[in-house]
Formats: sequence, structure tokens, C-alpha cells
Amino acid sequence: MARYTGPVCRMCRREGAKLFLKGTRCDSPKCAVERRENPPGSQSFRRGKMTDYAVHLREKQKVKHYFGVLEAQFRKYFRMAERTKGNTGQTLMSLLERRLDNVVHRLGFGQSRAQARQIVCHGHITVNGRRVDVPSYLVQPGDVLRVKNRPKSLEQVKNNLAEHTREVPDFLALVAGDVPEGHVLRLPEVQDVSIPVQPQLIVELCSR
Ligand code: SF4
Repeated sequence: MARYTGPVCRMCRREGAKLFLKGTRCDSPKCAVERRENPPGSQSFRRGKMTDYAVHLREKQKVKHYFGVLEAQFRKYFRMAERTKGNTGQTLMSLLERRLDNVVHRLGFGQSRAQARQIVCHGHITVNGRRVDVPSYLVQPGDVLRVKNRPKSLEQVKNNLAEHTREVPDFLALVAGDVPEGHVLRLPEVQDVSIPVQPQLIVELCSR
């Protein structure tokens, strides 16, 4: 599946919010959002008043950038959420949060979602004992994620865990032993997303 490979700090500056797309840099004074308040682009010296459509669009783009998914894949998640019983916005956020690359990042195995995605793609992670190299794989409650028991995999993940400073969300449990493990305790909810989101704005935009 395609992915964005351009400069990521631009995305945070566009949304005017920290999306935590890099590793330790996001928590340091070097963060571009903290140093420059204006949006990216040579003509963008200030943020103008946003239209109602722009408010809805920016919310959707923020969530897409945060989870590292492109439009087609995002629309797929939206259709899945629409077909599921319950609140569409909350289901959408739950689906995105269940992505394997996101879970690997939230456990601290990867410093950023992009790095977590690479860790998954390179086959360093098993789910319930089976190698899964698909970043969009959706985890279920009861799933056990384990780092492959080989030196290259363990060294990379342990280095990342040593630098990990953010809290592991409530829906996951980290067991940092010789071979680090992550347990999925329950389905994630909107409150588990580590940035403020308003899913109803996304639903209103995508339902038009
Ligand atoms: Fe965003 Fe991180 Fe760059 Fe700051 S350092 S602008 S949070 S990606």
C-alpha cells in the first residue's frame, strides 16, 4: 500500500498541532510546531479564518496524517465503520487505532508510526505466534504481539523501548522481558487516541 514519504513536520505545521510523526524529536525543543507557528509555504505568514468545510477537512486530514494512511485506505475504514453497528465516528477511530503499525508504536517497539511500520514490514513482529508483516492488520482483544526472538529484531526493539517515554495506552499491556511482548486487553476507544480528535466532523464530511 502506498504511503507518504515527504517531510512530515510540514503536516503538523499545516494542522497547527503536534501529530508526533517523528521519534524523540517530537518531545524536544526542536519540534517544528513549537518553533514556527505559521503554516508551511512561502506565502503562509498567518492562518486565515477557516470556512466550515475547511474545519471538517482539516480534522480528516489530521487523522489521516496521524495514522499514516492515504485517502483511499481512509475511505475504506470509513465504509467499514459505516457498516458496523454503533457510533460511526467512534468505530472509525477504533479501527485506525487497531492497526498493527499503530499498536507496535504505542507499545514503544517503534519510535514513530513510520518506524513501527518498517519494523512490521521487515517481519520483526509475530501475532499469536505467527509472523505478520502487514501494517494494516487489525488486532483483536486477546492478541499477543511478540518481537521475533532473533538478535537483529530484539536489539532494534529494545533500543526503542529504552528511549520510549510516552505512556502505553490502557487498552494495551507491555511485558518488557527478554523477548518484549504486547497484549491487547480490549478494543480501543476514542479516548485512547493520543491527540484530541472530533470524529463527528469527519463523519459529517465523509457522509456528504
Ligand atoms: Fe510534528 Fe514531531 Fe515534527 Fe514536532 S517534531 S512538528 S510533533 S513530527
